[in-house]
Amino acid sequence: MKLAIDGGIPVRNGPWGSKYICTEEISEKEKVYVLRVLDKKRLFRWEPENIEDSEVSKLESLYSDRLNVSHTLAVNSGTSALIAALVAAGIGPGDEVIIPAFTFIATASAVVLAGAIPVIVDVDETLTISPEAISKAITKHTKAIIPVHMKGVPSQMDEIMKIAKDHKLIVVEDNAQANGGTYKGRALGSIGDVGCFSFQQNKLITSGEGGMIATNNGEIFSRACIYHDVGLAFRETSKDLVNHPFFPAENYRMSELNGAVGLAQSERIDDLISRMRKLKLKIVEGIQDIPSIELQRIPDKQGDSSSFVIFYAPSSLIALKFSMTLRKEGIPNDILRSRGFVDRHIYTNWDYILNKRSFSDASNPWSNRLYKGDVKYTPDMCQQTLNLLSRAISIPLFQNLTVRDCDDAIEAIHKVSKHLFS
Ligand SMILES: *Cc1c(COP(=O)(O)O)cnc(C)c1O
Repeated sequence: MKLAIDGGIPVRNGPWGSKYICTEEISEKEKVYVLRVLDKKRLFRWEPENIEDSEVSKLESLYSDRLNVSHTLAVNSGTSALIAALVAAGIGPGDEVIIPAFTFIATASAVVLAGAIPVIVDVDETLTISPEAISKAITKHTKAIIPVHMKGVPSQMDEIMKIAKDHKLIVVEDNAQANGGTYKGRALGSIGDVGCFSFQQNKLITSGEGGMIATNNGEIFSRACIYHDVGLAFRETSKDLVNHPFFPAENYRMSELNGAVGLAQSERIDDLISRMRKLKLKIVEGIQDIPSIELQRIPDKQGDSSSFVIFYAPSSLIALKFSMTLRKEGIPNDILRSRGFVDRHIYTNWDYILNKRSFSDASNPWSNRLYKGDVKYTPDMCQQTLNLLSRAISIPLFQNLTVRDCDDAIEAIHKVSKHLFS
C-alpha cells in the first residue's frame, strides 16, 4: 500500500478528538452547578454566613475522598498550588529542589518564587524523573524533590520515596498532568508529603483556572491555608489553624464559579479515565509487536491516566520521518522535542532559569548569601532527556475516540513502520 505522503490513500481522513480533553465534557452538569452559584448570588468562597454551602468546599471534600488524604485546599492555579506547597513545607532561600528536565516551566518557576534553587535532572524512558539522576544530584543543600507525573504517567514513587527517606527530603508531587492517576493503588498526589493539581483547561479536567493542594501533614496544610489567603485572619476557619502565627500571604483563593465547574468536571473523572484507558490499551496492544519502535515505559500501567500513546523511534531522524508520514496517514502526533513552537516543557527553553534570572537582583535565590551551593546549568546538561524527547512520538487521546479510530491508528502505525523499517 502506497503511503499517503507518496500520493497513496491515507488510512483515515476526518478529525481526531478535539482541542481539549476536558472541554468535550462541558455539558448540562457544569451549567446547572454554575447557575446554582449565580442563583445563590454567592461567588466568594469564604462567606461567613454559610461557609458550609460552598462549591469550593465540596470540591475539596471530593478530592479528600478521592485521594484519601486528610487535608485539601483549593487554589486558583497549579502554579499557585506549587508555590504555596513549597512555602508551606518550609522550602526557601539556600535550599536546592530537584526537578525533572521535562516538565512545564511552572515547576521550576515555583521553586524560584519560593526563594529556592531548582536542580534540573534527567528523565528516563518513563519520561518522568530518573531516580538514579536524583541520587546523583543530591548535595548537602538538597531539601526537596518534585516528581512530575508527566503526560498522565506516574513517576517511580517507590524509588523516589526511598531516596527521600534515606536523605530526609520533602517530596512535593506535581500532579498537574495526571489527575485521577494512581501508583500501586494509591492516588497520585497523595504519596509524597504534599501533592499539587492544576485545573487549567489543558489538563484532564478543568475549572477554567484552578488548582488543589493535598496533604496528610497538618503543619503543611495550616501554612498553605495562611499563605493562600491574605485575609485569612478575618475568617472563622482561621480558628482551626493549630497555633500558627500568621505571616504575609498571597491571594490564591478559588472563586465559587470556578469551584462549580471544577466540581462538575471532577465528578466524572473516573469515567473519563476508564474510557481513555480502554483506548490506550487497545492501541498499545495493536502496536507492541512492531520490532523497531519502543513503547514508553510506564511505571504502573493500571495507574496511567492514559492521555497519550507515546513510543520511541530508533533515532531522531527516523522519528521526524515517522511523525510526518503518520500525520499524512491521518493520525495527528508530535515529536516531543520539536512540536513546532518554543516548548516550555523542555528545560533548554527555560531561559530565565538557565540564566539564573529573577524579578529583581535582591530577590535572586542563586545570589542569596544563604545559598552555599553552586548549581550549574548548560543547555546540554540533560542529554538523556533530549535524546529521548527527540525520538518520542506522541499521539494524543480523547475520550470520544472510537474503536474504529483506534484501529485506524494501529493500521497507520503498522503501515508507516513497514515502509520505514523494511
Ligand atoms: C499546567 C502545569 C502546571 C501549572 O498549572 P497552571 O494551573 O497552569 O498554573 C504545573 N506543572 C505542570 C507539569 C503542568 O503541566
